[in-house]
Amino acid sequence: MGFKVGKGNKISFWTDVWCGDSALSQRFPHLYTLAANRNAKIEDLWDQNVGEGGWNLRFIRDFNDWEVGLVGELLQALRGIRISWEDDSIFWRGGGSGQFRVKDAYSWLDRPMEVNFPKNRIWVGRVSTKIMFFTWEATWGKILTLDRLQKRGWQLLNRCFLCACEAESVDHLLIHCTVARELWDLVLGLVGVKWVFPKSVKEVLYSWGGSFVGKKKKKFWSSIPLFIFWMVLKEMNRLALRGGGGGGGGGGFSNSEVQIFFCLLYLGSFVISSNSEVRF
Ligand SMILES: [Zn+2]
Repeated sequence: MGFKVGKGNKISFWTDVWCGDSALSQRFPHLYTLAANRNAKIEDLWDQNVGEGGWNLRFIRDFNDWEVGLVGELLQALRGIRISWEDDSIFWRGGGSGQFRVKDAYSWLDRPMEVNFPKNRIWVGRVSTKIMFFTWEATWGKILTLDRLQKRGWQLLNRCFLCACEAESVDHLLIHCTVARELWDLVLGLVGVKWVFPKSVKEVLYSWGGSFVGKKKKKFWSSIPLFIFWMVLKEMNRLALRGGGGGGGGGGFSNSEVQIFFCLLYLGSFVISSNSEVRF
């Protein structure tokens, strides 16, 4: 017997069999011991406020390097599963379509899609899981942008919400949009690096190597793209709440959160540049 996720309010995330052939607590026992709430229902770990909604798993502490791969595997298992407005339901795995569904799901999960996926650049540790999840979804092109709404049949003029100039896509929003570029330029300016920007989020993560940053600072360095992506999302949400999109100077970062972010970055870059390992 297995569960099919609807609203997710009746199924226990860790202990019920709803994703794959066994409970997640059995497949990922180590992560289960780190779960902030082992009895959480699926809906408790789903955040509707991020893009189209996304997983917001909560753990009792930050991950160590060796645990980060496990989180990636868990995410891989959850990929494509979303909460809906239907009720949760139970199905028999024993035969017919039930069996097919599980088999289907497994072959889908087993596809070697991770080969070209920069997971080590996403699960960098010391970054809130919420931010890592968002980056992970952005890398798959899963966040809700106008081009994706159009593909679903919404009649919308596809203009970037932030700059109101170019067509909006995940790559435009997070990398090429003038509003996002403001952040990138500030960060790169701090460390004195000129960068030819890659086209996609995935390529940015791949090429954000930071070979000129000492090994010790690498963790800090590799978290920067994630923070920038997150700040862009925050900015979009801020504008959406204000009821207006970009253009006419609507975009631009002004809230205190952004200022704090840059204070941290500034301090971080100071640490980087005062470190004897730095090689530009
Ligand atoms: Zn834009």
